[in-house]
Amino acid sequence: MIPVEEALEKILNNISILEPETKPILDCLGQVLAEDAYSDVTIPPLDNSAMDGYAVQWESIKEASESNPAIVYVIGEVAAGYIFEGEVTPGKAVRIMTGAPVPPGADTIVQFEHTDEEDRKNMARCSDEIGIRKATIKGKNIRQAGEDVSKGDLVLTKGTELRPQEIGVLASLGYAETTVIRRPMIAIMATGDELVDVGQPLPPGKIYNSNAYSIAAQVQRYGGIPQILGIGADNREALSAMIVQAVDSDMLLTSGGVSMGDYDIVKEVLAEHGSIGFWTVYMKPGKPLAFGIMEHQGKRVPHLGFPGNPVSSMVTFEQFARPAILKMLGKTTFAKPTVTAISESRFKNTDGRRIYARGIVEKRDGQYYVRSTGPQGSGILTSMAKANGLVIVPEDTDGVHEGDMVRVQMLDWREEE
Ligand code: AMP
Ligand code: MG
Repeated sequence: MIPVEEALEKILNNISILEPETKPILDCLGQVLAEDAYSDVTIPPLDNSAMDGYAVQWESIKEASESNPAIVYVIGEVAAGYIFEGEVTPGKAVRIMTGAPVPPGADTIVQFEHTDEEDRKNMARCSDEIGIRKATIKGKNIRQAGEDVSKGDLVLTKGTELRPQEIGVLASLGYAETTVIRRPMIAIMATGDELVDVGQPLPPGKIYNSNAYSIAAQVQRYGGIPQILGIGADNREALSAMIVQAVDSDMLLTSGGVSMGDYDIVKEVLAEHGSIGFWTVYMKPGKPLAFGIMEHQGKRVPHLGFPGNPVSSMVTFEQFARPAILKMLGKTTFAKPTVTAISESRFKNTDGRRIYARGIVEKRDGQYYVRSTGPQGSGILTSMAKANGLVIVPEDTDGVHEGDMVRVQMLDWREEE
């Protein structure tokens, strides 16, 4: 038996970061930048107005007040995206919109609210004059050219994970495409004569293949591209034929056939196709775990073989396949977010392994609490559907008692938490 951490280390030692690809920025959300991103532009390109108002020389309005407005003569108007052809001189003003470049000569913007523009409109008298009612601070309401980015700046560094804000920053630099570490293609194969695919009638004694779907969805959630190969029957020929279909994938995930059952020939078939190790890991669910390298046509594809029980395959995925996918994607932190919670249930541990129990975490008055989802059998997939976290019941204890503090790996992270 080996601990979870050791199994993970052995797996990650066989996983490499993938190659870069160049594609439209909007297709890169969640991926890791493979090159530094420099700017060819200055943002904003020119000093511009932060307000709708009047561009003036501060000297012309410095004495202005509510009772004694400074009267300026309006020589034109400028909107965002246009350049004012002219100059603001003493006693003059240009009506200016937010984002419009500040006209030459002007050094201050007075927002509409501090002028008598509204009153003049009501007077219905056509006039080119405007009264400024406030001696605004010199330089007020002007956004400086380059206050965000200067031409030549290193704006985003290689290794940055692209969130919506980084996608926006790349767009602000004018990038239509960028170069990121590509997404891994993950081949998924379920094994078992008892399995029937969804959408088919269910003959007596058979069950639907849920693992292929839960695993494919986990692959998607963590940034991989799932390729479901199908259901491998419990015979050598069928399994052999299917396993080699993963030759062009970056990783092969199988479920079932790694325990001690009579029909567990996955091991033998895999051993024929490369090197494979079978481990018993100090964890529950998920004690039997296969890891090896599938070799075919000169290619080497890492293979993780999960136990068939639906909860076991999902929990082992979280511990081992998720970090492998994140490493291939170029990410550098693999740990799932965890919280410390007060347990409101008893979680028994009878065989010294680390248990990942399904729990429901809630925050009340600033404190996390966790309770069991109910029966914890590794075939009870609805326990995963009820859970938002995996309670880590330490190995070599008799488990967690009500009132104990426990660590909980969060499966989801609700926004309000
Ligand atoms: P195995 O690891 O192949 O011995 O399977 C253990 C248990 O998980 C058995 O009860 C199987 O019927 C069940 N099982 C295996 N594969 C799947 C699957 N793809 N979907 C749902 N249940 C499965
Ligand atoms: Mg089986």
